[in-house]
Amino acid sequence: SSKALQENLTLKATHEAKLVLVKSEAPKPGPGQALVHVRATGVCGSDVHFWQHAGLGPWKITGETALGHESGGVVIALGEGVTNVSVGDRVAIEPGVPCGKSTCSYCRTGQYNLCPTVDFYSVPPADGTLTRYHVHPAGWLHKVPDTMTFAEIALLEPLSVCLHATMRAELRLGMPVLITGAGPIGVVQLLCAEASGCSPIVITDLSKERLDFAKQLVPDVVPLLIDPKRAPIDTAQDIIAAFTQATQGVGGTGNNGEVMPAVTMECTGVESSIAVASYATQPAGLLFIIGVGKSEQTIPFMHLSTNEINIKFLFRYRDTWPRAIRLVAAGKIDVKRIVTSRFPLERAKEAVEHAADRSKFSVKTLIIDEDE
Ligand code: NAD
Ligand code: ZN
Repeated sequence: SSKALQENLTLKATHEAKLVLVKSEAPKPGPGQALVHVRATGVCGSDVHFWQHAGLGPWKITGETALGHESGGVVIALGEGVTNVSVGDRVAIEPGVPCGKSTCSYCRTGQYNLCPTVDFYSVPPADGTLTRYHVHPAGWLHKVPDTMTFAEIALLEPLSVCLHATMRAELRLGMPVLITGAGPIGVVQLLCAEASGCSPIVITDLSKERLDFAKQLVPDVVPLLIDPKRAPIDTAQDIIAAFTQATQGVGGTGNNGEVMPAVTMECTGVESSIAVASYATQPAGLLFIIGVGKSEQTIPFMHLSTNEINIKFLFRYRDTWPRAIRLVAAGKIDVKRIVTSRFPLERAKEAVEHAADRSKFSVKTLIIDEDE
């Protein structure tokens, strides 16, 4: 393409916990790579954490690392040998690129998110996609229909998290489901549980505004404001009462005609919420933990043990984009409804600060080139 490129801008977090918007030349795609004009990127809680703590868990920022891993855009140039995408295609960027070698049992068996040498863009040393021009291995770009908006393309990433969770948790028609936490992941999980036919669905949070937002997304959901000072076992009783009331005590799954969640989708990673979830989940049910938090946590061990409650975890996603694209393109999941604020790339720093500011209401902040 002979079209002149604009100045490249990239939002980076530094080892001194600062945000810097860096100007550069657009990169050139090498063999097997494509150059993407990124048109929308969602801000994730981990971007905020990487910036404010100059790292996350085991990963430390040593120099500067570009933020962002929820992105979509248009292919504008191809490196040698690329055949799966063409210039002009709208694409979603899958940000986790595993080794892909046949000697790696995780890659070989399709569990590529568990590849020990996966490069996850925005986790140091790999730069993220919060930039205007991003070079990506072409095989990890997913072509989407031309009718899909850039906001929708970016949101295929958090949808991927929740689709992988929905599949691993085997959410089914008519299952009572509890969702703890109404942040971006909690509300996307709510959309997935609703689309799976789960009923009733109860969602918890400490924030009334986030619960109101969830209720506006899915009017059938039962929102429950949590008092963090209350004992987890008592909060769990409130949740079971909410399920029982929502079903008028019919179709009981617990003792005494109580209705309990067959599956709890834990979307906070907070120890007290995991305790609540442990006590609320039906015996022989599933406590599915998406949230991440402290590296060592105490759980209600004997309650979980004597009730044969299963526990499963999640690490990102594998092979979810094709399904996510079909669901959004078919209108089965309207994921763009979780967007609460939009900023242009020139104001990317402000966007991340906005997403981090707990005094301002936000669910999903997007950095987006509005000119679609
Ligand atoms: P978020 O922080 O925006 O939302 C969490 C919500 O939980 C907030 O609204 C908060 O008010 C609420 N909350 C806090 N304590 C609570 C409690 N005791 N009871 C009920 N609600 C409570 O985060 P998010 O972006 O929605 O992500 C949710 C979690 O999922 C985070 O821990 C995130 O790191 C994790 N995550 C995990 C994966 C994975 O691969 N496992 C992928 C993406 C996100
Ligand atoms: Zn591998």
